[in-house]
Amino acid sequence: MLATAQTHIREAARRLGHDEKTIEAILEAEAEHIFEIEVAGKSYPAYRVQHNSKLGPYKGGIRFHPGVNIDEVRALATLMSFKTAAVGLPLGGGKGGVAVDPRELSPAEVEELARRYAQHLAPHIGSDKDIPAPDVNTNAEIIDWMVDEFEKTVGKADKGSFTGKSMTNGGSEGRAAATGRGGVITLVEYLKSQGLIDKPLTVAMQGFGNVGYYFAQVLKAYPNLKLIAVNNSKGAWVNPEGIDVEKAEVTTGGTPRPEELTDLVGIEPLPRDDIIGVKADILVLAALEDSVVESNVDQVKASIIVELANGPTSSAAEETLDTKGIVVLPDILANAGGVIVSCLEWQQNLAGEHWTEEEVNAKLNDLLEKATKETIARSLEKKISLRQAAFELALERLL
Ligand code: NAD
Repeated sequence: MLATAQTHIREAARRLGHDEKTIEAILEAEAEHIFEIEVAGKSYPAYRVQHNSKLGPYKGGIRFHPGVNIDEVRALATLMSFKTAAVGLPLGGGKGGVAVDPRELSPAEVEELARRYAQHLAPHIGSDKDIPAPDVNTNAEIIDWMVDEFEKTVGKADKGSFTGKSMTNGGSEGRAAATGRGGVITLVEYLKSQGLIDKPLTVAMQGFGNVGYYFAQVLKAYPNLKLIAVNNSKGAWVNPEGIDVEKAEVTTGGTPRPEELTDLVGIEPLPRDDIIGVKADILVLAALEDSVVESNVDQVKASIIVELANGPTSSAAEETLDTKGIVVLPDILANAGGVIVSCLEWQQNLAGEHWTEEEVNAKLNDLLEKATKETIARSLEKKISLRQAAFELALERLL
């Protein structure tokens, strides 16, 4: 992922005429914090990479996962700098994580881990320095512990020091749906630019978690864009008549699983990875990285791919997609809804305000619509992919 991100940045920088020294400098992180956290007699490697703060405080999530390593954190921190710049936010890029399987810890141990992480980083973070957020296996409860520990350590209140907090602790309305909503905003803007917005189009979607569910829910505002296939880690389901994600047989709390959706009851699931080859106009990737790769890229039948996960299309696969004229709406634009609403949460905290969901959604819409229009215009002007256009615009702002 780091190599892919750096390749995109190098390409954009060379096209803009920057020399190698400038390129190497922009790839370099401004600071890296690598430390160990001891919990219940065991030691866990912990990281915070602060990549670039040219446009504002570092911004990026904290992941608790056994696969966390310095290269992954560097890659995600770099992508965050480019994502915040691509959509014009007054924020930089950072990322953090602990190499731990939280399922092996008791709730009290997870709390201890979170508190020690915040305590160690306290001198380097805060609403004017670095604003972490939740990521894989971290959530509002964990972030609330971190805020509490951070505030105790620095001896002052600073609710803008983290985003993704619980609603009672300064969180923002609209955050849960933000990434999915942003995906719809980007897709709709692209379809408008192509004169396709009123055409009947079908949609297949990989991944049905937080991002995928809300994408599908917000998509309902466009009845001509019909969701016909979804998958998750267990299987893939197709219903050419359409799938209404709000019509569910069972409500277990949280978002429903595909097999609970009324429109899918009784439909035999296909193998999970068949979703990539489903015949649909639009393929939404909302599961995980490296989903469309060299070995399966030829199965893709869609003419538009929407990247809601980070790095779901490999560079090699993208070359093939390019050759076939399949358009990719790139992650740094299409999944930026989450970081945009995080930015709005930070701004609400700094102003001591709490905006309604309508206000938050309107601001998200304005910011992402503008960023998508700029990216499309650049792509047309320079005859480059939307990803390259987004990286160019970000780079111009960062340099
Ligand atoms: P999630 O854990 O809620 O959902 C992930 C979904 O992917 C689940 O439905 C899971 O069953 C499915 N899945 C897992 N492995 C799969 C596989 N091999 N094939 C098909 N489906 C599989 O996660 P999420 O918050 O919805 O995030 C999805 C992706 O979007 C992640 O890559 C995440 O990094 C990225 N992302 C999330 C946000 C956010 O705000 N949550 C923001 C930007 C990017």
